[in-house]
Amino acid sequence: MLYAQVVLPLAQPMYTFSLDEGLAVEVGDAVVVQFGSSRFYTGIVWSISTTKPDFPRIKPIIAKLYSSPLVSPEAQRLWEWMADYYMCTVGEVMRMALPSLAKPSATSLAELDERSIEPPMEGYVALSEELRDEEALAAYVTRHERRAPRRTRLLDSIASLAIERCSNDGFVPRRLVDATAEQLADLRKRGLIVAEQRVVTRDSGGDKFLLPVLSDAQHQALQSIRAAHGEGRVALLHGVTGSGKTEIYIHLIAEQLSKGGDVLLLVPEIVITSQLISRLERIFEGRTTTYHSRLTPLRRGQTFLRLALSNGGELIVGVRSSLFLPFAKGALVIVDEEHDPSYKQSDMQPRYNARDVAVVMGRLSDARVVLGSATPSLESYVNALAGKYAYVELKERWGDGVLPEVVVSDTIRAVKRGERKTHFNFDLLRLVRRSLDDGEQAILFQNRRGYAPYIQCRTCGYSPRCPHCNVTLTEHRTTRRMECHYCGYTVERPSVCPNCETQDITTMGFGTEKVAEEIARLFPEARVERLDGDTSTSERAFKRIVTRFENREADILVGTQILTKGFDFGGVTTVGILNADNLLSTPDFRASERAFQLMMQVAGRAGRRNDRGRVVIQTSQPKHPIIEYVASGDYHAMARVELAERKAFGYPPYSHLIRLLLRHEDYDTLHRASHALAEVLRRVFGARVMGPVSAALEMLRGEHRSEIMLKIESGASLSRARKLLAEALKIVGDDAQYKTVKINVDVDAS
Ligand code: ADP
Ligand code: ZN
Repeated sequence: MLYAQVVLPLAQPMYTFSLDEGLAVEVGDAVVVQFGSSRFYTGIVWSISTTKPDFPRIKPIIAKLYSSPLVSPEAQRLWEWMADYYMCTVGEVMRMALPSLAKPSATSLAELDERSIEPPMEGYVALSEELRDEEALAAYVTRHERRAPRRTRLLDSIASLAIERCSNDGFVPRRLVDATAEQLADLRKRGLIVAEQRVVTRDSGGDKFLLPVLSDAQHQALQSIRAAHGEGRVALLHGVTGSGKTEIYIHLIAEQLSKGGDVLLLVPEIVITSQLISRLERIFEGRTTTYHSRLTPLRRGQTFLRLALSNGGELIVGVRSSLFLPFAKGALVIVDEEHDPSYKQSDMQPRYNARDVAVVMGRLSDARVVLGSATPSLESYVNALAGKYAYVELKERWGDGVLPEVVVSDTIRAVKRGERKTHFNFDLLRLVRRSLDDGEQAILFQNRRGYAPYIQCRTCGYSPRCPHCNVTLTEHRTTRRMECHYCGYTVERPSVCPNCETQDITTMGFGTEKVAEEIARLFPEARVERLDGDTSTSERAFKRIVTRFENREADILVGTQILTKGFDFGGVTTVGILNADNLLSTPDFRASERAFQLMMQVAGRAGRRNDRGRVVIQTSQPKHPIIEYVASGDYHAMARVELAERKAFGYPPYSHLIRLLLRHEDYDTLHRASHALAEVLRRVFGARVMGPVSAALEMLRGEHRSEIMLKIESGASLSRARKLLAEALKIVGDDAQYKTVKINVDVDAS
């Protein structure tokens, strides 16, 4: 009897099931098992052994799904690495990595059957086995050329299609063969070809793509990346905004596809990538597939199965979870905007960073990895400095493009001199005026959506707060409501103070809604659009705004950080950053790095064609070093100073931070549990333990939250730290009084 260790998509260890003789199951296969009394799951066979485990009742594997394994040995190693590194179970990795329809679960087998999907199939043909030998084919052709020219030509064309498409077993999709059904049936009858149904694949191999011609600098960068990949190293492509990183990606993608290999282009968010995607689709038509959470479950499931069960040779453009699609070995993985925080999953296990997992994947499955950014994360930069990654730099914009000129505008001075109207310094208004007069466009960036981040009673100081999260409610004028930006709770905007009943309520601070309203008042002839979470609730709404601005049907675009994400608008000559202060003042060790990245990225939207762009940064701290680095565009200086500071205080990249977030409805229980855990941890980790403190968001959806940070310096063994931490968590978790306290572990928290 054989026994299989099976991973289930749960926060559970692996379980052993028995394998009936009739069932041909191999490692990596998806199988149906019963778990619990009335639940059927899809699990993955992790290993098979002959040793009988010593518990009495072992359930059998019920069925096998799909014709071949879903999870390759390389993917198994990657999942195991993730479970170990991010401190979760392999089952939790599986739950995230496989789309729901590829791993159906149900309460009965009939229901499970209904939920399963089949991979899309199509007809394939190949020459008969004898004719797949080149000499045999040549001999056959010579012999029959005269009498049956059409037949031999057809055989020839199938053979060359197989070569062009890098088919390793000679099979090619029927639809690519230029022949009628009768002609093919005739060949089959004569035993010259064979046909079968296979999973649909995309076109692959051997095509000629229409590629952009690279500048010398771009060409050199491409060569350096190739050289790095030749040595099996990761390449960090640091190219200023508008330097044409995309063009380099396009060349790398074309090379890989024409060899029949897979490509993954990871992007932080899909909707805002629509410009990039249509550019890629124009070049790699029929080859490009997008993968993200807004697709229907069916589309996602089918994409997964198609890749798992077919030969590959595809370009996937997708968000972080696409990393777990079943790519063939040796894929090309490009992580665009590698510094972007959305690569980190922080709301559930595994709390992974897709950029880091991509690098590990490079090691485990021979993937060639490119990390690209105009403002690399300090983590990647340090790896490049240390020689771990190849560092490839593009210092100039492509063509005649020059980097924008940055004006730092002191808000306090502007107020003193009467050179400010509401939220705009005259410096900014003058440049907006100039862009409009020249028939050009302007972008205004404010890092907050809504009208005002809070309202306050001028008599008693009262501000309405979210009853579930204890943060101030943001005013939204369009809906006339107050909204919690953490949990979505809303109430009508009060017109009298609920506390002292006077009518003296005023707005405090400002969000994009207010900026758009006021700029429209100052420039009544300008057409103003707003791009933020409230105006782009659907992909369609988002695209409509972007297209209008692209087509110059709008003059001023006001928006939140969505604007920082790689847009290529030709007509923008003025960019305004309305309040740099709130970027600089977030209480987070990454605040400076993030502020620099955000400002550089927004600034990068200016002057992307020939005209020189201008950027105005409004701040009350014009001498702040980060502002100065943005003004001079000096990434290296920023990195040098910031890294020295991180080193002095032992922050990443010189350490790993592990955040423990504790949650409970009852404040006292939470408080006691947090202190108990911190004490156990201090016994092991000493001064590496920080906290407990109330979490940045003390309350969320009715739960109190506190956190403990562990700082594990580079050089210390992170794996040992994780082991000790797991033991400490068990001690506290096993204590009956803390059973109901939820603890989340976040390795490399940010
Ligand atoms: P990045 O992603 O580095 O910010 P892009 O790849 O978006 O830069 O390029 C900026 C602009 O320059 C785009 O409009 C792009 O079409 C153009 N461009 C860059 N390189 C080339 C090239 N080799 N040939 C034609 N256009 C280019
Ligand atoms: Zn709330």
